[in-house]
Amino acid sequence: MTIRARFLGGAGEVVRLGMLLEHDYAHLLCDYGLSPDKPVPSYPMECPPVDLVCLTHAHLDHSGMLPWVASRYETTILTTRPSAEVAGILHNDSIKIADSEGYPAPYDKNDVKHTQKVFDYVKHAEWREQAGMEMHFHSAGHIPGSTMYEMRGEKRMLFTGDLNTQNTRLVWGAHPVKTDILFMESTYAGREHPDRKASEKAFLDAIGDTVKRGGVAVVPTFAVGRSQEIALVLKNSGYNVWLDGMAKDVSRVFLRNPDYIRNRKELEKVYESIKFVHSQHGRKQAVKGDVILTTSGMLDGGPVLYYLSQLRNDPKSSVFLTGYQVEGSNGRRLLDTGHIEDKGNSFKINCQVEKFDFSAHAGHKDLVKFAKDSGAKDVVLFHGDKSELLRPDMERFARVHTPKIGDWIDLTG
Ligand SMILES: [Zn+2]
Ligand SMILES: [Zn+2]
Repeated sequence: MTIRARFLGGAGEVVRLGMLLEHDYAHLLCDYGLSPDKPVPSYPMECPPVDLVCLTHAHLDHSGMLPWVASRYETTILTTRPSAEVAGILHNDSIKIADSEGYPAPYDKNDVKHTQKVFDYVKHAEWREQAGMEMHFHSAGHIPGSTMYEMRGEKRMLFTGDLNTQNTRLVWGAHPVKTDILFMESTYAGREHPDRKASEKAFLDAIGDTVKRGGVAVVPTFAVGRSQEIALVLKNSGYNVWLDGMAKDVSRVFLRNPDYIRNRKELEKVYESIKFVHSQHGRKQAVKGDVILTTSGMLDGGPVLYYLSQLRNDPKSSVFLTGYQVEGSNGRRLLDTGHIEDKGNSFKINCQVEKFDFSAHAGHKDLVKFAKDSGAKDVVLFHGDKSELLRPDMERFARVHTPKIGDWIDLTG
């Protein structure tokens, strides 16, 4: 069987993933995302017509360009229900951002609606005949609903999307799946995470100190996955916690799809104790609370900017970043210079600023272990700017491919 693959984006970089996979029976597209850069997003190479699309999860770097595909080609998009529902929220939000920033969006609201109609829901542990292969669906352990696609033909293939093998409070870690060809993310090539329990303790201690001295802890979080994880870390803390921004809608989707979360009751309980901000009046109340979980995670817009405008001159308050801060983002600016930008003006943040590691990606050693345990003879690395660092460890048991965008990789042999 002839098998070849080509990255339209997301090879040698952590953004805008898109992979074409061609074998004797079908042409597939695995994920098709965008990178929400400033001032304008960057997009992957243009996708040709395909027979089928597999979406691993809703994050925009994986799903952001699907309405573009769905509006041009007759195709179904396989994914889990929560991934489809959250992707819809993010698609509409990216149109909103394009409008407010004044650049053309690559699709409109009707395309987003149409995309929802061509989603074909799959469930974990389920399998079906599709595209001339037997397809099996496994949890990727990254966020609720995140899915690895296993394709069994003459050869077995596995596409991981974003992958986490460690348990988090929100989802169980992923298990290796036997395969011949492994397409695997490599965000944390060459890096390990600090111990998760130690990160949680440091985070809770820092919040405790803030509250004790009479300040408010502003916790910018990504809406999809991170916000819910942090909410679970704060469970039983007894603090007055407020939730603002798009994470509210995303949390509702997860609660409606409890099969994909580690502990439904716990998540429900946590949200009973958290106050949702619905209005400007709510925001004024939240500023008097203890902890505010709010978007955006990198401080590039969203209600977090309102909270910082209210609290930036209060040295008792703090800003605790909980995710990766990309070069050029407001969050990175805050870490490097102590300032943020809002509507073209620069403001000094006179609060305590710290960053904590709550990553939902496997670290270097876990990536190597996953690849080894899968038994793969070919490992194709993507979604990483330092993928090469995995080569020495993985070449002990597999051929390692680190393609560039646009290259065809022949995996027939
Ligand atoms: Zn992701
Ligand atoms: Zn990703």
